[in-house]
Amino acid sequence: MLGLGTMGRGIAGVVAAAGEDVRAYDPNVDAAPAGVRLSSSLAEAVDEAELVFEAVTEDVDAKRAILGQLTGEAIVATNTSSLPLEPLSEVVPDPERFLAAHFFNPADLVPGVEVAAGPRTSAETLERTFAFLRHLGKEPIQVKAVPGFIANRLQLVLFLEALACVEEGLAEPEEIDAVVRKTFGFRLGAFGPLAIADMAGLDVYAAILDSLRSAYGERFALPEKLRDLIAEGRLGTKSGAGLRRYPEEELRAMLSRRDETYRRLLAASE
Ligand code: NAD
Repeated sequence: MLGLGTMGRGIAGVVAAAGEDVRAYDPNVDAAPAGVRLSSSLAEAVDEAELVFEAVTEDVDAKRAILGQLTGEAIVATNTSSLPLEPLSEVVPDPERFLAAHFFNPADLVPGVEVAAGPRTSAETLERTFAFLRHLGKEPIQVKAVPGFIANRLQLVLFLEALACVEEGLAEPEEIDAVVRKTFGFRLGAFGPLAIADMAGLDVYAAILDSLRSAYGERFALPEKLRDLIAEGRLGTKSGAGLRRYPEEELRAMLSRRDETYRRLLAASE
């Protein structure tokens, strides 16, 4: 593990908890999480490693400096949240054994890990990384290597709108967070925004967008994709298809899973 800050500590802890031998290097840290051996040099930490996780400061030069010192046969996985992978891939010992494995904080609790191939990542590297993440009890999800991947692109749009609500004086930060937690954020624990839109009805979303566009301008304009789906009669679960198709059996199972999950979430939040 290279870097033992917020994320490095979490990731190293998860790997150690899975019974693996973990060594870590961070010149600014003098205590390691349980089960993790702190090394006094980078060479000592990565010597014999099969997999090197990098979670140093989110700065391309800092990451290039440390990745450029690596040698050996290990797979190298960066935890970058937003940096392009090309400049990092250029300095590692073998770009075919380099990729991004983007954990979320706290790494021991959040199940999903976004995995993105770099410009030259091999199929074997992807396969081995997926297998290792599953061995850790994680759920790897492959995404394209675009800045912010999927999660931060979505998360940051929500953050910017929430911040705009604060700036416009619509409510206090605590109240805005409460609106999210108690309404649509509550549902996000079980479904993503696309399934939620299908359940609401894409025609309903189109009507809402129409009002928002009048109020806030073109960033709420009806996207072509939505116009096309509605024109095809794909209105969401109520018409059997929206962004996805919903065979009857599958839809019944999905709705009962929804209600069961929401009841569980509600009980847990009380
Ligand atoms: P952090 O600032 O808490 O930790 C970074 C650590 O890297 C520090 O302890 C620092 O001493 C160490 N470091 C710096 N240069 C080093 C070097 N040359 N060798 C070894 N260690 C070095 O940052 P963080 O929040 O843990 O983020 C680390 C990475 O994980 C970043 O790329 C960040 O974007 C990403 N990430 C962060 C979060 C989050 O919620 N904080 C979530 C997902 C991904």
